[in-house]
Amino acid sequence: MSRILVVEDESAIAELISINLRHAGFDVTIATSAEQAQVAVDGVLPDLIVLDWMLPGQTGLAMAKRWRTDVRTRELPIIMLTARAEEVDKITGLDAGADDYLTKPFSTQELLARIRAVLRRKAPEALDSAVEVGTLRIDPATRRVSCGIDGEPREVKVGATEFRLLHFFMTHPERVHSRAQLLDRVWGDHVFIEERTVDVHVKRLREALGPVQCAHMIETVRGAGYRLTQQAGAAPTKPAPALSA
Ligand code: CA
Repeated sequence: MSRILVVEDESAIAELISINLRHAGFDVTIATSAEQAQVAVDGVLPDLIVLDWMLPGQTGLAMAKRWRTDVRTRELPIIMLTARAEEVDKITGLDAGADDYLTKPFSTQELLARIRAVLRRKAPEALDSAVEVGTLRIDPATRRVSCGIDGEPREVKVGATEFRLLHFFMTHPERVHSRAQLLDRVWGDHVFIEERTVDVHVKRLREALGPVQCAHMIETVRGAGYRLTQQAGAAPTKPAPALSA
């Protein structure tokens, strides 16, 4: 379930937003000031922040700028809310690092659409939509993994950690992820566990994918980490054709 932090000092608006987001399946935390928001972010990193521009004390703009300079929060998706419609505000907001921008009053449907779009772009692993890579399919909503063999989908049983790991790989295919990155993105950023733990779960994931002939999709990239690939060359059973001169 995606975690969304709503930073808004007007309690009626904060409540309205959170009720609608919860109804749409998000886990919502409300902060009514920049200071509260910082405490919330220090505690648990959300998947996305809905940030009001005008807050008592520090403004949302100052918070967005600060989060953008911190390594831990640099990639945090941020949607800014403002009561002012001037174009200059929009540019200032996007300059400060907001990923999107919404002017009050807005419909909750509009906010939901923007949240999903920003998550799709920046944190697809935080969304519940099913993902397919090659013959492999993962569905976070039903917690099912399947692999098509000769056109027939076959269910793959994986543990909870392997599921999250595979979901992250499938939402970021063909990219190499270091063990440290995987720990951050799959296990959570306040978790202090050894990088070797990643190897243990990758091994389990490959074992689960073995019976459906998809284990080769999880590649070890020497000295760099792991990657999910559907390149034909990755399959041990299908070597790349030799080039003739
Ligand atoms: Ca406000």
